[in-house]
Amino acid sequence: MIFTVDVEDWSQSVLNRNNPVTERVLHSTHLVMDILAENGTKATFFTLGNVAEKFPELIKRMADEGHEVASHGYDHRNIYTMSQKEMLEDIGKSVKLLEDASGQKVIGFRAPNFSIREHLFPAFCETLSTLGIRYDSSLFPMKALKYGIEKKYDLSVFKEFGIDEYYLSYIKVRGYKLPYFGGGYFRLSPYSMTQKLSQPLPESSVFYMHPYEVDPGELEFVKANYGQLPLKWRLTQFAGRSGVPDKLRKLIRNYDMMSFRNAYYAEDSKQSITIKSNATTSSFAQLTA
Ligand SMILES: [Zn+2]
Repeated sequence: MIFTVDVEDWSQSVLNRNNPVTERVLHSTHLVMDILAENGTKATFFTLGNVAEKFPELIKRMADEGHEVASHGYDHRNIYTMSQKEMLEDIGKSVKLLEDASGQKVIGFRAPNFSIREHLFPAFCETLSTLGIRYDSSLFPMKALKYGIEKKYDLSVFKEFGIDEYYLSYIKVRGYKLPYFGGGYFRLSPYSMTQKLSQPLPESSVFYMHPYEVDPGELEFVKANYGQLPLKWRLTQFAGRSGVPDKLRKLIRNYDMMSFRNAYYAEDSKQSITIKSNATTSSFAQLTA
């Protein structure tokens, strides 16, 4: 399975994009890397350009430890608010910062808030292709409260531009498709439930998380600096954070997790070939589901 981390600073990326990037993202991303290192697991870090700009040494550690450095845009602006020229500037700026800090060619992208819409596919794919990006993991194959598209995707334009698309995984619970494998569901559910519900997931499944999900102290920091948050936010964004490190340790022991680069773009790895065939099958299954 693929382990992905969307590296961003909560008070900047979620609360208000005009807020400064703080050191919290530095500490929490180091903690995630420490946990992965206990098991030798390599992950894909979809990282904001503004994090690389402020903490280039963090990006260097990702690269030095064999993780994949990929782009999450510059400062978490939704793709559907941008013209094609702005997309090229925003994603291009992040790619440059990440490549300079890591010494790695960036080949992967995930949009902030999964903010791709079908009418944007041609401009989006052309932009990624111009920047030398080979794959995207921005689509959420279900209707969700905040993001996602409920209809089936026509991915032919992705193929035209040579961009591979890897969806985030979902689990069917009582007929509903839920993005259960990662994010808030992982944080708020007991680990045993994640394990039970993820049993039918294929080898090609994509797990995702944010570094801030291992930072329980952030709620007090936000309150002190930006004021009290509504109860709904405290529950959906902050509850369960202190339990995440131990759940992550179990997860990486129980599942064979790796980065996108190691799974699909390390052509000499025997393992990559096996998984690639599964991925194709599951992509079609998800497309037609
Ligand atoms: Zn994000």
